[in-house]
Amino acid sequence: MTGTGATTALASLLQRLEALHQDKTFGVVRDWKARTGGLAVGFMPVYVPRELLHAMGVLPVGVLGGGDSIEIIRGDAYYQSYICHLPRSTIELGLNGSLDCLDGMLFPATCDVIRNLSGMWMMQFPDKLVRYLDVPQDFAPDVGGAFYRHELLDIAGELARRGARPLDDAALRASIAVYDANRRAVESLYELRRREPWRVPSDELYLVMYAGMLLPVEEHTSLVEEYRAAVCADAARRPLDQARMLVTGSFCEQPPLGLIRTLERAGCYIVDDDFVAVHRWIRGDVLCAGESAAGDALDLLVRAYLEQGVPSAIRYIDDDRKGRDLVERVQRSGAEGVVFCAPSFCDPALLDQPMLVGALDAAGIPWTAFKYAENTGQFQVIREQAGTFADSIKLWSGAGA
Ligand code: SF4
Repeated sequence: MTGTGATTALASLLQRLEALHQDKTFGVVRDWKARTGGLAVGFMPVYVPRELLHAMGVLPVGVLGGGDSIEIIRGDAYYQSYICHLPRSTIELGLNGSLDCLDGMLFPATCDVIRNLSGMWMMQFPDKLVRYLDVPQDFAPDVGGAFYRHELLDIAGELARRGARPLDDAALRASIAVYDANRRAVESLYELRRREPWRVPSDELYLVMYAGMLLPVEEHTSLVEEYRAAVCADAARRPLDQARMLVTGSFCEQPPLGLIRTLERAGCYIVDDDFVAVHRWIRGDVLCAGESAAGDALDLLVRAYLEQGVPSAIRYIDDDRKGRDLVERVQRSGAEGVVFCAPSFCDPALLDQPMLVGALDAAGIPWTAFKYAENTGQFQVIREQAGTFADSIKLWSGAGA
């Protein structure tokens, strides 16, 4: 492909991604349902086993809130002011009909806010499948594993009663392979950004990941590969003298796209993050890692959750492990600093932050912190803070080396 051809292909791909991101009526999901007649089931952040839904012919649809583009009219009446923004915009999307195309919703056990939202959903939408997905906090296979397997079988039963294909071991194994391929494609794009962040601006990467919340996984994998090829062929992208940052804390409610752009315009290259976290919640392949183990495909999914889940704020494990993991991610990504970028009132992210700060301080890694809401409209203060942080790293980091 010539430089101009590559640029044109990339521009039209980015246009399509922007349109997907802006469409809060889930048009692409409606089209999929009209085409296939299948069930589409929404899920809240952070993690649900999408492989299970896929194996039953169900389209998993990530519902990441309303972003900064919908007006909250009724959503505020459902929640007190001192909680995050995500549930207000989600209930607004439900009440204004945007989520009518979904046959149900899964609410993973992320925090009390999501638990309450699942209760509201049951009352507001009594005909839809509504399921609070309790994930294990005991990681022993015979305790948490047995519990989680039971949960998954229960959900599979509910889906089948609503018209999904019954769960089948061979189909589940095939679906795990499809998601493994997706995880590899996603990881390869993240790896490219770590190596050459100027090729993969983070707002673009975000849009590519967001598309995976709406499209069938096979289509998303092709899209990730198409984007990767297009940016590699774009000769116009050149490195700038920016500070490399790891951004963390945004695993559930997502920052506005404008905030991600602001960080990069303020002189930061984001070289690792936890945006649209479901794509990278399980590290590595599920199939290969569990292939030698006894058991069926469902066991592989359960084991992956127990053993390959990222050490996140919603996982009740030793705080040292989370701090160690963050420091390792900084080292692996070559980040020069960490930006704690969490939603306002996000208990899981903000409660973990002091422990993570302790680990960074012990390792001599500079950091800064601020909060956002998904509909934050003004970025000037964040730009000044991030820009000053980036400048201070460029000016003084390693000054004594
Ligand atoms: S942003 Fe934080 S507090 Fe809000 S729903 Fe998500 S995990 Fe819970």
